[in-house]
Amino acid sequence: MIGVSGLGAEAAAILGAPPMPVALGALGLRTRRRKAQGTRLRRGGETRACLSGPIRNASARGLHARPPPRYAAHMTSPFRTHMDAALAEARAAAARGETPVGAVIVDPATGVTLAAAGNRTRELLDPTAHAEILAIRAACAAVGSERLPGMELWVTLEPCPICAAAIAAARIGRLIYGAPDPKSGGVEQGPRIFDHPQSHHRPEVIGGVAQAQCAALLRAFFAARR
Ligand SMILES: [Zn+2]
Repeated sequence: MIGVSGLGAEAAAILGAPPMPVALGALGLRTRRRKAQGTRLRRGGETRACLSGPIRNASARGLHARPPPRYAAHMTSPFRTHMDAALAEARAAAARGETPVGAVIVDPATGVTLAAAGNRTRELLDPTAHAEILAIRAACAAVGSERLPGMELWVTLEPCPICAAAIAAARIGRLIYGAPDPKSGGVEQGPRIFDHPQSHHRPEVIGGVAQAQCAALLRAFFAARR
């Protein structure tokens, strides 16, 4: 049974036991034990009681802080990468004999992946069947809208001008790409679509994410074909 003598009424209520007052002088002698209690409490996810000196003392005085807010399991950090999923799509494209480019569209508010696709230009006999275009089409179908405001598009290669124009038209909030494409890129090289005065929308652009992995996949694919 976890002792609750150093906790406030709130934490004690969570633990199902009444709070008991503790003399501050006793805390110094029992610091080690209280830290251990704090660890056990934190693992329970209920309270931050007994974590450090000021909080511990506040607990002892009955000035217990509110428990930290609980987060739903599906919520993700805004810094979570989805390039691994895009890379998986790129590898699958290579296995189909397509240029290894993969893309995923994610709702950053929920972490839910709306669409994932790799290049299918050969399979579909369609020069516009790039990973980004296919992912945008699938995501728009998933949400029932021709626009994807606030969504993130992760792609292993800098988008070409066709895809960049589609990204702007879809009002995608953030573009994250892996390898730059000096030959066919249209975002930060070549026509720089988002910088063009006719572009109706400019997403936030982050390039060079997992760049070495994304570029290596393309190099290996084309080296094997020479
Ligand atoms: Zn493209």
